[in-house]
Amino acid sequence: MSKPSLAALQQPPLRRAEGAGSGSESAAADARANLLGMPRTELERFFVDLGEKPWRAKQVMKWIYHAGVAEFDAMTDISQALRNRLSDIARIEAPVLTPFPAAADGTRKWSVAVGDGSERVEAVLIPEPSARGSARGRPSQEEPSARGSARGLPSQEEPSAGGRARGLSSQELEKPGRSTLCISSQVGCVLDCAFCATGKQGFNGNLSRAEIVGQAWAVARQLATEGSGRGITNIVFMGMGEPLYNFDAVVDAASVFTDDLGLGISRRRVTISTAGVAPRIRELASRSEVSLAVSLHAAEDELRSQLVPLNRRYPIAELLAACRHWLGQLGDRRSVTIEYTLMEGVNDALADAAKLAGLLGDLRCKVNLIPFNPFPGSQFKRPSMQRVRAFQTHLLGAGIPAMLRTTRGDDITAACGQLVGLVRDRTRRQARHLARRTGMAPDEQLLRVTSP
Ligand code: SAH
Repeated sequence: MSKPSLAALQQPPLRRAEGAGSGSESAAADARANLLGMPRTELERFFVDLGEKPWRAKQVMKWIYHAGVAEFDAMTDISQALRNRLSDIARIEAPVLTPFPAAADGTRKWSVAVGDGSERVEAVLIPEPSARGSARGRPSQEEPSARGSARGLPSQEEPSAGGRARGLSSQELEKPGRSTLCISSQVGCVLDCAFCATGKQGFNGNLSRAEIVGQAWAVARQLATEGSGRGITNIVFMGMGEPLYNFDAVVDAASVFTDDLGLGISRRRVTISTAGVAPRIRELASRSEVSLAVSLHAAEDELRSQLVPLNRRYPIAELLAACRHWLGQLGDRRSVTIEYTLMEGVNDALADAAKLAGLLGDLRCKVNLIPFNPFPGSQFKRPSMQRVRAFQTHLLGAGIPAMLRTTRGDDITAACGQLVGLVRDRTRRQARHLARRTGMAPDEQLLRVTSP
């Protein structure tokens, strides 16, 4: 039923007012430049335009990202006159994050107030036990844990110090586990993939780069305050929205995440996930060196178009050609992550695995298998673990690296595809989706909602 028309997919996403969007009503009217999320080169220009030296950018970035400071007045190595001037013309403003109760497995989720403060997106932190000898000692089903974390903020203990405080042995301290932050890039999503809760909500525009970077900045500050000893080690654009439809803000945010003066996370550990906006993948290759994940979910166009309507615009061959271009630009040592959500009876048969292996045979990639995460009103089912394993085994047998993404945080609806915020839907998709579920016409629902 109400899938978006091709014409709708071709429209550029609606844009929100520039400069707006910092999570409070007054912020929307605040004309001062928000320095949060501004890439280093732009910040240098900002200071040069003020008649200052470009290295001021370095000073201010250290305060913002290494010290977690949001007030110019606290920047004590800057003259009082310049601090006053900065307060008049600029601000450092992140969206307000409100925590949900943590999941049983330690996954944490925040509601992020964006725009004029009345809309919400979500951010999720997925801590993993250390690779070696954590308290529970359960190895991850995914890649081995990465070393290092986003730059420590002042009160944050180094992993070893934090570990020592908890009385862990030195061997246990050797490899702190990964802590992946999953962030949102849009309010809702324009794509309406058949199996994703976010798409059912509709769409209301792009987040600003301050709202994107602010999710990570605020979580890093929170972790530092807690002295948890472990910062953010990886960032994935796998929350709400299609990152490549908010291209400039996402590229800017990625540059701040990977900059040593920003969060200092390695470019391989920052991943942009896309449903397959082929021309933007090509453009990304020349604008950023962060990692790329592509949500494929099917090896044939007919099925993929049903699951990911964007496939009608950029079919599989065009999408994989863009991936090859990206690989060619980024060099031999990089690979594309192919995401494949397994849905029972839809795309989880061994014949599907064989088709997928055939399709990906000559692509430098690894496959991330995601067992479907249900949400209210979803029409798909998660396959049994046996089926999931059989699919994985088939890919591995065909020489395709295939990992199983562990389901995390599903008891707080923080797993892949379960994120929903508060979206003032401009597409009326939310109403149509509710109509399908309740049998109530969209206009009837509206009456119910608006009448006293
Ligand atoms: N728009 C981007 C990023 C958001 S979704 C993209 O499509 O890649 C991040 C991943 O979660 C995508 O691979 C998406 O297909 C997957 N996903 C969405 N809904 C899901 C669900 N209900 N269960 C499992 N995975 C899901």
